[in-house]
Amino acid sequence: MAEIHWLVYIIIGFFLVLGSWAIDQERLLFFYYVGFIFLLVGIVKFIYTKSKSSEEGQKSRHSKPANMGQRSYNQPVHAAHSKSPNVKYCQACRTASYYFANYCHKCGARLS
Ligand SMILES: [Zn+2]
Repeated sequence: MAEIHWLVYIIIGFFLVLGSWAIDQERLLFFYYVGFIFLLVGIVKFIYTKSKSSEEGQKSRHSKPANMGQRSYNQPVHAAHSKSPNVKYCQACRTASYYFANYCHKCGARLS
């Protein structure tokens, strides 16, 4: 749902009130009241979004450590390395060797 900005309401209301007042007070009285309602809606929306944005600001401040945790999760260098199919690990010393190696290049243990 696309929300209309409170400033749009205030601008529309302002022009309706000003326009109807300037052009013809009696004939455009309806538009004058409509503009007044728009102004009120805009002010209410302005207060509502202000209180809402301050709430969201507090929420984002609380969720900052969670975002930092996500960032470290996005860089699982070691995890990605261990998942590589081109590498196998020595049972004795846990050194990574090529998948086709028969013996560990560090300790010489036989690789399964
Ligand atoms: Zn080894």
